Amino acid sequence: MSDAAAVPVNLEARRADGVLHVAWPDRTHDFPFVELRGSCECAQCVNEWTGERILDPATIPADIAIESMELVGAYAVRVRWSDGHDSGLFTWQRLRELAGG
Ligand SMILES: [Zn+2]
Repeated sequence: MSDAAAVPVNLEARRADGVLHVAWPDRTHDFPFVELRGSCECAQCVNEWTGERILDPATIPADIAIESMELVGAYAVRVRWSDGHDSGLFTWQRLRELAGG
């Protein structure tokens, strides 16, 4: 898959359903907020050197939600979560991987 194919045509935080809806040219995927929050790979959530996950998924509130999203360049989205966490980026490639490729 080329990088271009990983670029979403739509991103929608659907708080009523508790999912981030992502549409690509060829398909769509709904990411449950809790799973997406637990997949954050920023330096606060994952040890940059060892790759060990610092964030304990059990500490993620069950009602976690996306407060806002901001595009970063043309390659990623920065998510502001309802738990105050806003340092994580999800690149288009990463979202596609999390969606199963
Ligand atoms: Zn993080």
